[in-house]
Formats: sequence, structure tokens, C-alpha cells
Amino acid sequence: QSQELSQVRIDYHAALQSLQEEGTRMVCTGKMHTDRICRFNYLCYSNEAEEFVFFHSNSSVMLPNLGSRRFQPALLDLSSVEDHNTQYFNFLELPAAALKFMPKPVFVPDVTLILNRFNPDNLMHIFHDDLLPIYYTMLQYPDLDQDARLVFMEGWNEGLHFDLYRLMSNKQPLLKEQLKNFGKLLCFTKSYVGLSKMTTWYQYGFVQPQGAKANILVSSMEIRQFTRFLMEKLNVSMEESSSGDEYIVVFSRTINRLILNEAELILALAQEFQMKTVTVSLDDHSFADIVQIISRASMLVSMHGAQLVTSVFLPRGALVVEIFPYAVNPDHYTPYKTLASLPGIDLQYVAWQNTNEENTVAFPDRPWDQGGIAHLEKAEQDHIMKSKEVPQHLCCRNPEWLFRIYQDTKVDIPSLIDAIRQTVKTKPNLKKAKPGIIVHPGKVRDPKCQASVQGTNEARLTVSWQIPWNLKYLKVREVKYEVWIQEQGENTYMPYILPHQNYTFSENIKPFTTYLVWIRCFFNKTLLGPFADVLVCRT
Ligand code: UDP
Repeated sequence: QSQELSQVRIDYHAALQSLQEEGTRMVCTGKMHTDRICRFNYLCYSNEAEEFVFFHSNSSVMLPNLGSRRFQPALLDLSSVEDHNTQYFNFLELPAAALKFMPKPVFVPDVTLILNRFNPDNLMHIFHDDLLPIYYTMLQYPDLDQDARLVFMEGWNEGLHFDLYRLMSNKQPLLKEQLKNFGKLLCFTKSYVGLSKMTTWYQYGFVQPQGAKANILVSSMEIRQFTRFLMEKLNVSMEESSSGDEYIVVFSRTINRLILNEAELILALAQEFQMKTVTVSLDDHSFADIVQIISRASMLVSMHGAQLVTSVFLPRGALVVEIFPYAVNPDHYTPYKTLASLPGIDLQYVAWQNTNEENTVAFPDRPWDQGGIAHLEKAEQDHIMKSKEVPQHLCCRNPEWLFRIYQDTKVDIPSLIDAIRQTVKTKPNLKKAKPGIIVHPGKVRDPKCQASVQGTNEARLTVSWQIPWNLKYLKVREVKYEVWIQEQGENTYMPYILPHQNYTFSENIKPFTTYLVWIRCFFNKTLLGPFADVLVCRT
């Protein structure tokens, strides 16, 4: 391991000299600590202090230079989870002159991306908080290429799926613990610190109950581009399945939150949908095999849990069936529903909840983190046992939530099939056609209005415009226009939907009045364009 860094030879004396003379240089993007990513030359890390160090010299740069606001609360989030107080990044400052009295720095020659993984033992967290953000942070900065080095500072060991992190670049990622092997003072020649949050779709409930993020900025394009990258790295073939061998996948958990009648469920699904039905689990299959199997499945059935993030590998048109234990309201836990509803992702989604208390098996005597409640006061235990639904709560240690979510479930098969049938009438329909590319209209061009007065009470307003510039290059099923007419000074307007490029308005148009007219184009019912500059029309 310790040899690895020295494989790329750098001129040690030149590096040391520029660190001493130039010090650290930092330039960041982002207005707030929650959206900031910083690029550094010669950011150092003291293994002794377990702190990053910024060396000041006459030619250091620190942008933004926040002064002590850098500690309110931090320079940036080191993980993709927003504003989590265990995930903050900051550095200590020293004059470059202090280097003379410090251990000889060891230089890391690779371009490095420094970040915290959020929960590297949990597949949902691995994909949502780490892999997707790493992939798109690397895409944002071209020198973070396949030879970049990832450095994980959260302090965990490799975790259960370290192989997935290894796929992100050709260099072995480094853990915080391993930095010690390289010496007391480590200096990253060129590094980026922080992760893009652009691709995350879920907030885990640290400040308000968990749910979809308020402002989702990712669509299926980015998700599928990332899954194609991973599949290539995993050597999973991307050929589509041929029609006729459609199948259903049941992703089973083997340790807890079990489906107690899984065999019966598999038979019933196969029978009902006349499709082969296979099971996978993280114990019995390699991750690559799971991806291969899921990437051609028509339906993925699983208990609520991290393994459902593998829905990202489903083909377009497939159905996700998520099973919830007794007293767990599916509407309150929607990471996979939100995923299956991302714009353009083309997945169908069904949630089914066990509502029959007789079909649930709870484990009050297990440790608290597996849902045990024996450590609680008797009254609280009784209250939890009697409750029919977990009230909404914050992350992460709510005992009633843990108690309920770690129940095993005997699935009421007719009821589950019924729920699926409400969504898919025959067989789930895999989409063979390539997805339509989503293009929004441009502004309508050359908008004009002409007014005429018909009498003391009657007037007309003729509005016309040209098609958006990009329309002539597109095949669009349906092109329509929206026109808003507002009497100047009023704060309401009349909206119209029009199929053509001109229209004469006479209803509600008064003589000797000024109207403001906004026009925009939209494609296929929902793809709105921008409004053209407002027209001011006097009748
Ligand atoms: N896990 C598993 N089999 C099990 C239980 C858990 O493979 O029987 C995996 C699960 O997919 C996740 C990790 O172990 O990656 C942690 O599971 P946990 O129940 O803590 O989290 P959840 O699935 O509720 O997110």
C-alpha cells in the first residue's frame, strides 16, 4: 500500500518548494456550506492532529475568504447529506514558514476527491449518498478522471460493498485510517473537497420527517447514464432481453424484515402473471449477478429496504412492488417510490402494506437497533404494541419505528396481487423503444398585437406570433400555445390555450384599455417553454 503513492514520481524538492513559497490555494463554488465544493492546490492533512491544514504564504488564495464565518457552521458538507453536523469540513491554518518545524510532508501526486461516505454498509446510502454524487462530482471537474484518487474521510472501514467504490476510478480509494501509513503530514497536490448534491432525491428526516427532497434536480437521463457506467464496469451485458423470456424478481432479505411465505408468494406471482419468477439476495448472489438479473426483469418485488435501490437497474416499463410491514404507512417512507417516479424514469410503482396484525411477527426482545423494545418502560412498550400506525418521526432511533420496520410479514397474497392488478392489467409492459428525448420549446418569436375598437363597449385584440426557433428541427406530437391576457394594473389574468399562431380575442376586451399579453409554447401537454417578452396592447 505505502508503495502505491510513489508510483507516480513527482519532483519532491520542486513540490516542497512550491508548497513553501505558494502555500495552499483554494477556490470554491457555492454560496453556502451546503452547496460548496472546493478545489485546492497543496491542501495538507496532519495525521497527528487529524485535521486538514491550509498553509498561508504571500501567494495563498482562499476564496471564499469567510473569516470566522468559516466556522458557522463549516466551510462545506463533506458528504452529500445536507447540513449534517457530523459531516462538516474545515481546516486549520498555519503560516507556510511553520513547515520548517514540521515533519517532512509526503505529497499525493494524484488528483484527489476528498469526501465522506454517509453509511457505507447500506446499499441505498451507498448509491444515493455516495456513488451517484461521486460520479457527477467527477463529471463536473474534468481533471477528476479515471486516474483520480478517492479519499474517504468519514473514518469507517471499507464497509460491505467497497468493490462498488473501487469501480469509480482506476485507483484504489483510500480510507482515513490508511492516510497514517504515508507519514505525519500528507499534502494533496491537487484536490477537490465535497460532493455534488444535485443527484439526490431523498432526505432522511434529520430536521423534518423523511421524504422526497423539495427540489429534485435529477432525471432518468443522469440515473441511467450512471447505471450504464456501472454495468460496464461490472461487465454486465447491456443487451435487452428478448421478448418471451420475461420474468419477475423477488429480492429477498435473509436476516430480518422477512417475507415469511416467500415460496408461496413466488408461486403465486408466477401463476398469476404467467412468468418465470426468480429470487435474488445479497447473500446468494454477487452484485454483478444481481444487476444482470434485475436489468432484464419485468417486475421487482421486495420488502421495504435498501436492496430496493437496485430498481435503478430495472429496464424501462418495469414494475417495482414494495412491501411494508404492519403499522408502517407507505406514504411516510418513499425513497424507492420517489426513485421510481423521477422524471422520465418510466418505472411503475406499487406499495402494499400488511394491515392484518395476525400476519405480523414482531421482535420485542431483540437489541434496540433491530427493533427491540425490552429496554423501554413497560408503559411505553404497551403503547407501542397497541399502536396501529407509527406516527411520523425524525431519524433515526425512534423505537416505535424500528420495532415496526423490523417485523417479519406473512404476505396476504390475494391482497398483494390485487394491488398489483390495480396498476398493471395484464403483464408489465417493458418498453423496447428508445426513450423520447425531452426538449422544451424556446420562446415564441416576433409576438405582435393589434387592437381595434368596435363600439363604446366592444373591442378586439388580435395577437400573433411565430413558432419557437427550435421547433423546426423537432418532431413534436402536439404543439400548443398558452396566452395570458392581463388588464394593466389588475393582478388577475385570463389564460387561453390555443392551437394556432394567432387569435382574435373579443370576450372581456374593453375599449381604451391597456392589456399585457404573455405568450408561451408547450409541447405534448406538459413541456412548457418560456414566455416571450410581454406585449403591451392598447385598445
Ligand atoms: N440487508 C440484507 N439482508 C437482510 C437485511 C439487510 O442484505 O436481511 C442489507 C440491506 O440491503 C442494507 C443493509 O443490509 O444494504 C442494512 O440493512 P438495514 O436493515 O439496516 O437498512 P434498510 O434496508 O432498512 O435501509
